[in-house]
Amino acid sequence: MSDHKLDTLCIHGGQHHEPVTGAVMPPVFQTSTYAQEWPAKHTGYEYARTQNPTREALERCVATLEGGTDGVAFGSGLAATTSLLHTLPANARVVCGDDVYGGTFRLFTKVFEKTGMTFSFLDFSTTPLDRAIPEGTTLVWLETPTNPLLKVFDIAAVSARCKAVGALLAVDNTFATPIFQRPLALGADVVVHSTTKYLNGHSDVVGGIALTANPAVAQSLRFIQNAAGAVPGPWDAWLTLRGVKTLALRMARHQSNAHQIVAWLADHGEVARVYYPLLPSDPGFAVASRQMSGFGGMISFDLVGSLRRAEKFCASTRLFTCAESLGGVESLIELPATMTHASVPAEQRRARGLSDGLIRLSVGIEDPSDLLADLEHAMSASRA
Ligand SMILES: *Cc1c(COP(=O)(O)O)cnc(C)c1O
Repeated sequence: MSDHKLDTLCIHGGQHHEPVTGAVMPPVFQTSTYAQEWPAKHTGYEYARTQNPTREALERCVATLEGGTDGVAFGSGLAATTSLLHTLPANARVVCGDDVYGGTFRLFTKVFEKTGMTFSFLDFSTTPLDRAIPEGTTLVWLETPTNPLLKVFDIAAVSARCKAVGALLAVDNTFATPIFQRPLALGADVVVHSTTKYLNGHSDVVGGIALTANPAVAQSLRFIQNAAGAVPGPWDAWLTLRGVKTLALRMARHQSNAHQIVAWLADHGEVARVYYPLLPSDPGFAVASRQMSGFGGMISFDLVGSLRRAEKFCASTRLFTCAESLGGVESLIELPATMTHASVPAEQRRARGLSDGLIRLSVGIEDPSDLLADLEHAMSASRA
């Protein structure tokens, strides 16, 4: 099965018909426990925190998409990250990119730092890797492209350095999805997703998953999944699996719509800078062209003018909904400084190059001419 193309794997990867009825979609196994015919003699299913067939169908599907052997699903993207960190020793040293999802930053600095783990945040594209990732590093956390500045880091190069010092490499592949980037093939040990975003794709589920082809990592993730228990419910697993079936189609449309919007923004006199790695002027262009097969549907840009204007722009669109999150079929717009990244201290945001007026778009799959007209409208409405 896994030598099929990605478009096919979205639908068939790791799937089989339900054995009792032949149901083509796995049923929602809405049960907490399973009957045992004799004490401790069971079907392989004992208790639903430990095993649930609906969840397992999702785990197998996404594992094949990422080229992993194992998928381990969680109740949110941050629950997946939390669980991965719980597999590390208490004194783990973690190196993390300096532009990460705000919630990841908060989890590392406000929750795990006080348990004795240490975290450093830096730009892997400007810090020499032997300095960025010193001997004794336990885990490198790489988000690429990053949220919200769309910085691109070289996964293969970071992986080579991780292997030299015996560190694990985890890649948050939420933005690119396996359709455009497959980190395990580039040397990562674990891929983590917020399935809330593109994988589910319909803005109606919060979920997360970790994928790996490393048996020891798989075993410790599976242990934490059961021991700490941050599992998704069967309905959420089922909805996410349903979403994944159209992932390849959706990503193609997200991306072609994004290309039209990037072209419009890049040409606009009132846009100071566009962040999108497809642009040859983008610092991530060379690495992105090498390690990604597409650039996705996320765009950030700096509008000329005040923060007030950027706020007005976000409040003036009609099709783009002003909301956090991303990756759904509908277009969203947001202001990271006051919304998704408000948990990152202001001076730290500025040091990273995240301006207060930065606007982030999650381009949906609507008709591109309607989206462009909506942005035109917001441009003039925000000028007034
Ligand atoms: C949303 C997001 C997360 C966190 O996922 P949740 O499902 O909200 O817990 C992690 N990484 C990235 C890149 C995200 O966009």
